[in-house]
Amino acid sequence: MSVRRHAVVVIGAGQAGLSMSHCLTRRGVDHVVLERHKVGHEWRSRRWDTFCLVTPNWQCRLPGYSYGGADPDGFMRRDEIVRYLEDYAASFGPPVLEGVTATRLTASGTGFEVETTHGTFTAGQVVVATGPYQEPVIPRVAERVPPHVTQLHSGAYRDPGALPPGEVLVVGSGQSGCQIAEDLHLAGRRVHLAVGSAPRISRFYRGRDIVAWLDLMGYYERPIESFPDHDAIRARANHYVTGRDGGRDIDLRAFARDGMRLYGRLTGVRDGRFLFGGDLERDLDHADAVNDGVKDSIDAFIAEHGIQARTEPRYVPVWRPENPPEHLDAGRIAAVVWSTGFRRDYRWIRVPVFDGTGYPVHHRGVTRAPGLYFLGLPWLHTWGSGRFSGVAADAEHLARHIGSPQPATAANGHSYFVHPELLGT
Ligand SMILES: Cc1cc2nc3c(=O)[nH]c(=O)nc-3n(C[C@H](O)[C@H](O)[C@H](O)COP(=O)(O)OP(=O)(O)OC[C@H]3O[C@@H](n4cnc5c(N)ncnc54)[C@H](O)[C@@H]3O)c2cc1C
Repeated sequence: MSVRRHAVVVIGAGQAGLSMSHCLTRRGVDHVVLERHKVGHEWRSRRWDTFCLVTPNWQCRLPGYSYGGADPDGFMRRDEIVRYLEDYAASFGPPVLEGVTATRLTASGTGFEVETTHGTFTAGQVVVATGPYQEPVIPRVAERVPPHVTQLHSGAYRDPGALPPGEVLVVGSGQSGCQIAEDLHLAGRRVHLAVGSAPRISRFYRGRDIVAWLDLMGYYERPIESFPDHDAIRARANHYVTGRDGGRDIDLRAFARDGMRLYGRLTGVRDGRFLFGGDLERDLDHADAVNDGVKDSIDAFIAEHGIQARTEPRYVPVWRPENPPEHLDAGRIAAVVWSTGFRRDYRWIRVPVFDGTGYPVHHRGVTRAPGLYFLGLPWLHTWGSGRFSGVAADAEHLARHIGSPQPATAANGHSYFVHPELLGT
């Protein structure tokens, strides 16, 4: 097969890869975007039918293409998000090759070599924009679930009707777990939810969407270097809340009051029973405490800036667990939805830029290997980096770097050591 050469190869055509392409196109930089499926694949194929954004539409501000629809304060549904990305691509015609998977990335004398399912590409510079949520994570305890139970990962969940009739156990209470539990609950299914330690946030407070307050307060632009523990920040679960039906809180206590069964963390499966820890009350209290903490900062901001905003009473728990069950008979359960997250998969990248956990060492996406960049990761630079709100600023930053490559500089200001192998010398 032929070898094609470009100045830059971008891998992945989600919002990050498209943003990168837009910035390079505007600068007239020769490049190609390799996408193993189709533009916007993750939104198209890994989200359920009622999925909608949790962040308001006005935060969709990709380079050269801010949300221009009729509902800036609303929350696009899955198919609208896909259309937004397709329209974005149509607006500038990025050189995307769909159906091309990058299978191996190595440093070579001329920069980098990208082996793909459709031949080899070489480039002076490569931007990896393959997304933060690649491989579904399912704990191995799943192997002990009795065979009559249908099991699927949240990324494969579509709608309540696609599950076999009967009661459903949702494991995990991050964004996906909470929203899927709600989806099933609203459809009248008997839902059991194994709750974890994810925090929650109210949708609205003192007359505004909380995202609007946090945006105003500069939270989405605060660089990761301003926090003491980068790894802990990057590993933190997102707050659960929903944009469904115009946006509202997700209050697990209210679900429990209305018939959903809540449990602590899933700790095992034994003798035909799911086993749970005794941490439910602590985790519910923690989620509420985080929400209160966010409201405290908003109150302080309002007071400090003399903003006129109506006052609002604080949340009072509508339900408390009393002797929460520690096990559940698997005989009652028709399906388990594992809402246990995703992991990155960079095994195909054979350039030594990773730390001991497999996370790429970088400063705002610029790695120690000259010409190799990452884009679209949560907290790449700010809270907004892995979202629609902040990817534009990071893509602009990389485009400037690609235009005039500088030695990568670590957060402490020292240049990274660059192994001669990486320079191809
Ligand atoms: C449940 C959920 C809810 C979310 N809600 C919001 C929200 O409300 N607001 C918000 O702003 N963000 C939200 N996000 C976060 C974020 O916006 C998405 O994860 C987004 O998809 C990230 O965009 P991306 O372009 O970085 O990666 P992706 O969208 O994952 O795109 C990566 C692309 O790379 C391709 N690819 C991967 N590997 C290869 C390869 N080897 N070769 C070629 N192509 C490859 C994939 O097919 C994919 O198309 C949510 C995420 C999840 C999981």
